[in-house]
Amino acid sequence: MAESSNSVVGVDNTFRKKFDREEYLQRAREREEKESEKKSKSKSKGPPVQRKPLKHRDYQVDLESRLGKTQVVTPIAPLSQQAGYYCSVCECVVKDSANYLDHINGKKHQRALGMSMRVERASLEQVQQRFEVLKKRKDTGGLTEQDFDERILKQQQEEEERKRQRREKKKEKKREKAIEEEPEVDPDIATMMGFGGFGSSKK
Ligand SMILES: [Zn+2]
Repeated sequence: MAESSNSVVGVDNTFRKKFDREEYLQRAREREEKESEKKSKSKSKGPPVQRKPLKHRDYQVDLESRLGKTQVVTPIAPLSQQAGYYCSVCECVVKDSANYLDHINGKKHQRALGMSMRVERASLEQVQQRFEVLKKRKDTGGLTEQDFDERILKQQQEEEERKRQRREKKKEKKREKAIEEEPEVDPDIATMMGFGGFGSSKK
């Protein structure tokens, strides 16, 4: 009688446990569903980040402005005033220029700027345009090698000229000094000092 009753309390451990395959499959399915739901929820929180491809810098990297300067460094000073190169994007300090360049070209920094490390493939037109820009730059402000040579020559000539003038001035000063020293020892002072008599007939 007890076997057929539904009100049995307690655990019947006289038999080996039998797993209800169906029930567990069902549970597994439910769990999987829940998990996939969760996943899609957490994914849909933010749209996948679309990072732009790498772009070239449009500014000059400043590595030298603090070169040769003296600065007091304390460990409690803000990062930007610590010794080394400060990156304001990542708020970190890099100890030397080589590592600083590595840093600003690196993945972490580029990501902070919203760029992936992928490089955009340039089209033919883009390349042609770039050439055009560079050519124009050369035409207007750019210096050719010849310009540099001329500049150097001019500087050398100016330097020569300056040296010559300096030499001339020195010579002139010497001459003036010689003229000043030669004559006119005040006769009174000369007598006072006891050598007034030489060659003088006034005594
Ligand atoms: Zn950085």
